[in-house]
Amino acid sequence: MSEVTMIGLGPMGTAMAEAFMAAGHDVTVWNRTTSKADKLVAKGAALAAEPATGELLVISQLDYQAMYDSLGEARLDGKTLVNLSSGTPAELREAAAWVAGRGGTLVTAGIMVPPPGVGQPGAYTFYSGPKDAFDRHAGTLEALSAVTYVGADPGLAMLYYQAQLLIFWSALTSFMHAAALLRRAGVPPTAFAPFAKGLHGELAGEGPMGFLTILAGELESGVYPGDENSLRMQAVGMGHVVETLRDAGLETTVPEALHRLFARADAEGHGDEGIAAVVESIEKP
Ligand code: NDP
Repeated sequence: MSEVTMIGLGPMGTAMAEAFMAAGHDVTVWNRTTSKADKLVAKGAALAAEPATGELLVISQLDYQAMYDSLGEARLDGKTLVNLSSGTPAELREAAAWVAGRGGTLVTAGIMVPPPGVGQPGAYTFYSGPKDAFDRHAGTLEALSAVTYVGADPGLAMLYYQAQLLIFWSALTSFMHAAALLRRAGVPPTAFAPFAKGLHGELAGEGPMGFLTILAGELESGVYPGDENSLRMQAVGMGHVVETLRDAGLETTVPEALHRLFARADAEGHGDEGIAAVVESIEKP
């Protein structure tokens, strides 16, 4: 079994330390606020006096600034740092150079699960950076989740992570708008939820509603057939949704923005194509 130093003991870092321990690894922990280590130490983790302790440092903090603040001027010779904190791809690339300048190697990561899911089936994490460093520690990192290596560019893990979060937050916000709209008519959110779940399943499926597969193919080919459901028709329908929300006295910022985007794509000449043509307007802000 391996030795792991867990830096950052928020809800995620704590769950990660526990998952490493459950998998039988020797876990050392460090956190700016030392008292957050108490429960883990009681369970058998060692407490580090300095964050740069050991060869494999796994980091889960608020942001990348926290890593700089924590490590300060420490040398990182021969160490591999795996940072699962949120940042921008540019910050991750800068951090990779910063770690290399101190003699270490940075593997960047984006973990796609909340604290209770760490170490559980279905959890997965995007990793990027030097492949050899990733390969060396992949077996240990599997204690956290399934591992998915996406490439050498240190920014890639965060790009995949943020792409997923964009879908996650948009989908959940659309559910809140939808549930609020139905609630105004007396329909409880739990009565509507099965339909929303069904739709998400269909979108991810391979049938006529399997739009994730359909759109991916269309975006790749640059051909967006709209014979059976034109973008113009959908822009008009989206306008009706905005009006309905407004009539119900609800907030409409996000639905209005969607409608504006669809209408702009129509105005830019894509009305007869399919909904995938919206990407042309997204790529020309
Ligand atoms: P937080 O994002 O609140 O991070 C808390 C940790 O960051 C604590 O250990 C805190 O130390 C440390 N920290 C913050 N600022 C500094 C600093 N300047 N110097 C040193 N340490 C600092 O909690 P989470 O555990 O929820 O999230 C950790 C990371 O995981 C985030 O980047 C988040 O985006 C990501 N993430 C979170 C998920 C979730 O559901 N919670 C899911 C997937 C990813 P201290 O205790 O001393 O304050």
